[in-house]
Amino acid sequence: TLSDRLTSVLQNLRGKGKLSDADIDATAREIRIALLEADVALPVVREFIKHVKERAKGAEVSEALNPAQQVIKIVNEELVGILGGETRRVNLAKNPPTVIMLAGLQGSGKTTLAGKLATWLKQQGHAPMLVACDLQRPNAVTQLQVVGERAGVTTFAPQPGNGVGDPVDVAKRSIEEARHAQHDVVVVDTAGRLGVDEELMQQAADIRDAVQPDETLFVVDAMIGQDAVTTAEAFRDGVGFTGVVLTKLDGDARGGAALSVRQVTGEPILFASNGEKLEDFDVFHPDRMASRILGMGDMLTLIEQAEQAFDQEKAEQAASKLGTGDMTLEDFLEQMQAVRKMGPIGNLLGMLPGAGQMKDQLSQVDDSQIDRLQAIIRGMTPAERENPKIINASRRQRIANGSGVAVREVNDLVNRFYEARKMMQQMAGRFGFGGGGGSAT
Ligand code: GDP
Ligand code: MG
Repeated sequence: TLSDRLTSVLQNLRGKGKLSDADIDATAREIRIALLEADVALPVVREFIKHVKERAKGAEVSEALNPAQQVIKIVNEELVGILGGETRRVNLAKNPPTVIMLAGLQGSGKTTLAGKLATWLKQQGHAPMLVACDLQRPNAVTQLQVVGERAGVTTFAPQPGNGVGDPVDVAKRSIEEARHAQHDVVVVDTAGRLGVDEELMQQAADIRDAVQPDETLFVVDAMIGQDAVTTAEAFRDGVGFTGVVLTKLDGDARGGAALSVRQVTGEPILFASNGEKLEDFDVFHPDRMASRILGMGDMLTLIEQAEQAFDQEKAEQAASKLGTGDMTLEDFLEQMQAVRKMGPIGNLLGMLPGAGQMKDQLSQVDDSQIDRLQAIIRGMTPAERENPKIINASRRQRIANGSGVAVREVNDLVNRFYEARKMMQQMAGRFGFGGGGGSAT
């Protein structure tokens, strides 16, 4: 698996301070082999490796993570990205019923999926109806009816003896019936062939035109690996689809099909099936799939924890310093950057009791201002940053020139810094953090 391959290369990276080009190339080679072994289509592998390499080369050396962890983090993020990033929700029609049409090869798992979808939709508070438009196989209608019964939903099927033998007709009538019986979602099961063929595509396209689906889901067996790409392309061109459902993931641990289909068609994966039972089904989560492909769930958790611990440690260091009144401009800058990283400044300060006045002050600070402050502080000598008292008029002029701002802005910054320091000391006194501080002035 990818995880086995990576582990061996990454062992060599441990302890090194920075990722060298040779390290990155070696890692990329292993990722490439692992993806090809997972039956990911070659163009997809190439594209993926390219991205990972670019990012790894440009990556800042992280203080929180070792090089091996850094590579894993990048690979994981790229995987999540290729798999679609966020979970995509089902499009619901403004005027019910919402029509969901299933398309895919015979045996891909459409009929089984219809039952799973019905179950899931019911759980979401919908009143779904299944529609049997596979009139090709002798017992396809019965199979759907059985599935529907198990899921506890109505199945719309052509009545024997009334001469309905046309799937397009059935599809059309089902929509009327759904309106009538107040079903707000209709799931249309269609026929498949063992291989892609013209007649199949035409029939699916005709059903599509008749019911105008809000979602056309391309159902694909994950076990067919990179063949999924050609099939997906054929269905994209022949019928068109708005989303993908991966089935039989229980039989394919590697997830090659998921990567390929998503990357090649650009359509999101909405659901995943991983067994024959109705409950073997879930909304597709790109991050979970990525960690499964990578096979490093534990490692990813560790990375997250390491990063969080590192941020926290820095924040604590800064806070204890601030309380003692030893705050330097360097700390000031770091603190603002930390706050910016943590999210909207207002929210954060809102959580501190009595931080009202500080909140007002800081809420006026936006990102571009923080960048400017950073530029100014970078323009100071280390001595000036440590001890802002020495920043006299001529130093202010020099700093302003060096960082391309007006002297007024340097003055503002220095004043703001003194105010912030005073406020921190007061707060330290009030809340008792920052040992030994509390000398409220
Ligand atoms: P259809 O021809 O596209 O309608 O496919 P079916 O729904 O009839 O499924 C074909 C076969 O695959 C059946 O035996 C199903 O039980 C099986 N199947 C469907 N989905 C899954 C799945 O997620 N995992 C496993 N292991 N089998 C599945
Ligand atoms: Mg079927």
